[in-house]
Amino acid sequence: MGLENFGRVSFTAEAKAADFVTYLEQGKVMATRCRKCGTKYFPPKVDCPKCLLSDVDWIEIKGSGRLNTYTVVNYGPSGFEDDTPYTLAIVDFRDIRTFGRLSKDIKENDIQIGMRLKVVPVKLPDDRISYEFQKAD
Ligand SMILES: [Zn+2]
Repeated sequence: MGLENFGRVSFTAEAKAADFVTYLEQGKVMATRCRKCGTKYFPPKVDCPKCLLSDVDWIEIKGSGRLNTYTVVNYGPSGFEDDTPYTLAIVDFRDIRTFGRLSKDIKENDIQIGMRLKVVPVKLPDDRISYEFQKAD
């Protein structure tokens, strides 16, 4: 399984990380961590730009994070026009910063900086797969 099934456009293209999609299909949202310097990457990178090595561990993003900031996108870029409005968010988990969409189940009035969110894989209507942030329990 390759990146052709990920998301609406291939924003993980730089990751060279088809494993990311395989993990999503297993219900896991994963980051990578360089084995040499320990830097963590999300979206995952299999090549550490600091060390110029391709020696990474895959680590699951578990538990809940906190909303750091967000923006509501009303005019989407190519490939996203039919999907607006949607909300892009930066969510800080215990030791890694992540980026993605908020679930449309979270209404704009309910969005609060610092709110607890979890990241979960989601199936898209055309049988593609991605991930989104949902309210944590
Ligand atoms: Zn490194």
